[in-house]
Amino acid sequence: MGGEFNARVKPGATPRIVLSYPDVYEIGVSNPALQILYARLNDTTPAWAERAYCPWPDLADRMRDSVVRLWTLESFAPVRACDLWGFTLPHELCYTNVLEMLDLAGVPLHAVERAGEDPVVLGGGPAVANPWPLAPFFDAFFVGEAEEHLDAVVDALGRDGRVARLRALAAVPGVWVPGRSDRPAVRQVFTGFSTSDPVLQPIVPVLEAVHDRAVVEVMRGCTAGCRFCQAGMWYRPVRERPVERVVAAAGRLLHETGCDEVSLLSLSSCDYGGVAEAVARIRELRPGLRVSLPSLRIDSAAEKLGLFAAGQRGSLTLAPEAGTQDLRDAINKGVDEAQFDEAVRAALAGGFTGLKLYFMIGLPGETDDDVRGIARMAAHATRVAKETGRGRARVTVSVSSYVPKPHTPFELERFAGEQTLRRRQHLLREATPRGVRVTFHDVGVSLVEATLARGGPGSDRLVEEAWRRGARFDGWSEHFDVRRWQAAAAATGMALGEAGGEPPAWRDAVDARLDARFLADERDRGRAGRLTEDCRDGACGACGVCAGEVGMDLLT
Ligand code: SF4
Repeated sequence: MGGEFNARVKPGATPRIVLSYPDVYEIGVSNPALQILYARLNDTTPAWAERAYCPWPDLADRMRDSVVRLWTLESFAPVRACDLWGFTLPHELCYTNVLEMLDLAGVPLHAVERAGEDPVVLGGGPAVANPWPLAPFFDAFFVGEAEEHLDAVVDALGRDGRVARLRALAAVPGVWVPGRSDRPAVRQVFTGFSTSDPVLQPIVPVLEAVHDRAVVEVMRGCTAGCRFCQAGMWYRPVRERPVERVVAAAGRLLHETGCDEVSLLSLSSCDYGGVAEAVARIRELRPGLRVSLPSLRIDSAAEKLGLFAAGQRGSLTLAPEAGTQDLRDAINKGVDEAQFDEAVRAALAGGFTGLKLYFMIGLPGETDDDVRGIARMAAHATRVAKETGRGRARVTVSVSSYVPKPHTPFELERFAGEQTLRRRQHLLREATPRGVRVTFHDVGVSLVEATLARGGPGSDRLVEEAWRRGARFDGWSEHFDVRRWQAAAAATGMALGEAGGEPPAWRDAVDARLDARFLADERDRGRAGRLTEDCRDGACGACGVCAGEVGMDLLT
């Protein structure tokens, strides 16, 4: 690995930064946030940003046996020799991999043990919404979108010594230094998103990566207002890139990467104001070019399905999220049965050969009938397939367990717990009609996620204990073993699945710009089954994000 096309090599440049995604190369190399930071740091600042990913356990074990330290993919130098080591933290299941990487690099696990030449270890990414479970392992966290603050971070690294560097870093907007910051860090919003280009020279992986396509980020943020969704709250407000810029970027990316597929990236690309024009114009760039959208909203699916070229129609994912109208209203997923029926019919008529329906169980206020509703919707889709002569179309149901997340209207709701989730999985399995394949998220994994998502000060002990007992790559089913976490919980006096509750400790570290009254009102509206409009074209819900220079930036 390393030496990829578009990898940046800047011998002698300082400061030296290493960027990491705590998973294997094949997963991490495609991460859009890492690609953005890598390109901007190397192309617009004096720093040299290199990369390191997490080695698979077999390589890690060999490295330990041979005392080989984790190295970078650009200069093949030890990671430990850099000035700053930045981690993008996507979710709770990567936390043990952070410890694994620190250990493999020979960097002391705890910030208080670092000294002299040790790098400053900085965390960023969506999991920083609650930094407490990782707080002692990081020198600092950056909260939000870093594009406009990279110069300040690089400047801070120019100071002499760790203490001076940390002091300068602590003054950068969005930075929270555990034990040093006396107020929460305010989530930073990239106000120049619409007037900037997406990454135009991404690293082209040397191995088959999870996303092997040219990626154009067309929009940031989502205002649909689903009450369970952390990303929908965290990345507000919505900002869109002009179609002209998107099409030009796609053309450049095809040239730079050699890809034969362009993906228009965002949390909800069908909501992008220029989606139809952008897809049509990008498709004209090259005959046979594939253009993909990561997801479709059910309420506009029938209309948007025409955007897919006839030859691209494999399986389509639709996400009703909940099985009954009452529960969908409670989570503000205002999709009704007629829209679901219309989307299913349009997908089948449009030639899609499979339908994947995505649901959650364990949502606040859920009843057994809501769970049976999932089976009824799957049965309906199967019936429609038969009626329309598409009986061979596969219908699969994918069911995850809901985990309450900080900075969402449901942030203080109870986690459903192991017993309830297992019982409801059984109930759904029994109720699902024959011929429909149903898959469930591992309940043990959800227990760990639920514990860490809202874990407060001290929850780091659970992460460290689990890692010392062999936990790593917890996001991979072949590596996850809940017994390690159960043993770690017993050893640290914690109970899996029971973290959280008031007062929410994450607010001591992170100000997500969301008004606490808005979140509480939304929770109450959810309990009352009342919908809240999408503020893109409805009334402003007064979430608190739009203020000063931060505001929605839509195509007119
Ligand atoms: S402040 Fe209003 S317009 Fe801005 S994101 Fe929040 S709800 Fe939408």
